[in-house]
Amino acid sequence: MAVDCAIIGGGPAGMNAALVLGRARRSVMVFDDNRPRNAVTRHTHGFLTRDGVTPGELRGLAQRELAAYQTVTVNRQRVTDIRRAGAGFHIGTGDGAWYAARKVLLATGLRETLPPIPGIGSYYGRSLFNCPYCDGWELRDRPLIVIADGMNAFTLTRLAYQWSKDLILCTNGARRTMSDEERLKLQSRGIRVSRERVVELEGEDGELRSVRLESGLRVRRTGGFVSPIWRQAAPFGDWLGCAANEQGGIQTDRLGRTSVYGIYAAGDSSVIAPAQAVIAAGEGSKAAIGINADLIQEDF
Ligand SMILES: Cc1cc2nc3c(=O)[nH]c(=O)nc-3n(C[C@H](O)[C@H](O)[C@H](O)COP(=O)(O)OP(=O)(O)OC[C@H]3O[C@@H](n4cnc5c(N)ncnc54)[C@H](O)[C@@H]3O)c2cc1C
Repeated sequence: MAVDCAIIGGGPAGMNAALVLGRARRSVMVFDDNRPRNAVTRHTHGFLTRDGVTPGELRGLAQRELAAYQTVTVNRQRVTDIRRAGAGFHIGTGDGAWYAARKVLLATGLRETLPPIPGIGSYYGRSLFNCPYCDGWELRDRPLIVIADGMNAFTLTRLAYQWSKDLILCTNGARRTMSDEERLKLQSRGIRVSRERVVELEGEDGELRSVRLESGLRVRRTGGFVSPIWRQAAPFGDWLGCAANEQGGIQTDRLGRTSVYGIYAAGDSSVIAPAQAVIAAGEGSKAAIGINADLIQEDF
């Protein structure tokens, strides 16, 4: 029998949607293969009542709360296919099974590609982060590097300045990342702007100590921000023909409805910036309300 809603992705967006739908007495299957984007980090900040919780603890708490709702089940398989089937959808998983659902919520999040700097992955989530709102407080007043090779270099550096005045912006070989006026603005505040490539990150246990530039110059930096390239963690929005928003996420209305009837989206896969756990959870809640409203409209 078809569940009312299949939720693809059990991060903050998917889990909060499952909670709201379970409480609305809807049958829900959450599919999650446990590969969240923030798995690299030790703490999740800025989530009221949970500030500093580990990502694992947050998931554990969510799963315990969901266990109270018998109509919500969690399936650990990776979803490999979603097809329209009559008025609903069929969901295919990695083990070859198929499940039927009336509605589908895409809450699959993002994957990120870091700048090509040797060893950067071992610092990312420890002392190098992408979001000052998430991790700026922990890096406050420290000597920081901002590594950004795109058009957001100025914006990210200006934002980081709110947490530390001791900043070096490195565009890592990219030449056209900002206007002359923007460069002068940064320099007038004592921010050094370098176009050199970062060739080495030095530190221990993920804690950055210094950075070596291609000229050979080594500078003491104990943390910083990088600007990754984001892409959807799963291709289903494209496959199903969902329109994209101006950020490259899946376009939705204010209750998570995509351009394809019966398909909803929430969390990072839709709102690429600002991307925070509490925002993803809120988007999941809104989408659940949209899904329940549409099911009521169909049945009543
Ligand atoms: C280094 C780092 C630090 C961060 N720090 C913070 C912070 O301090 N505070 C904060 O608020 N935010 C932080 N964030 C951002 C935060 O993690 C995200 O905004 C949030 O997790 C988004 O939630 P989500 O539910 O949309 O996606 P995710 O949490 O990424 O969850 C998506 C889930 O979908 C699953 N999935 C994807 N495809 C499939 C599939 N085909 N089948 C089955 N399952 C699938 C994945 O396994 C994953 O579990 C940080 C991010 C990073 C990278």
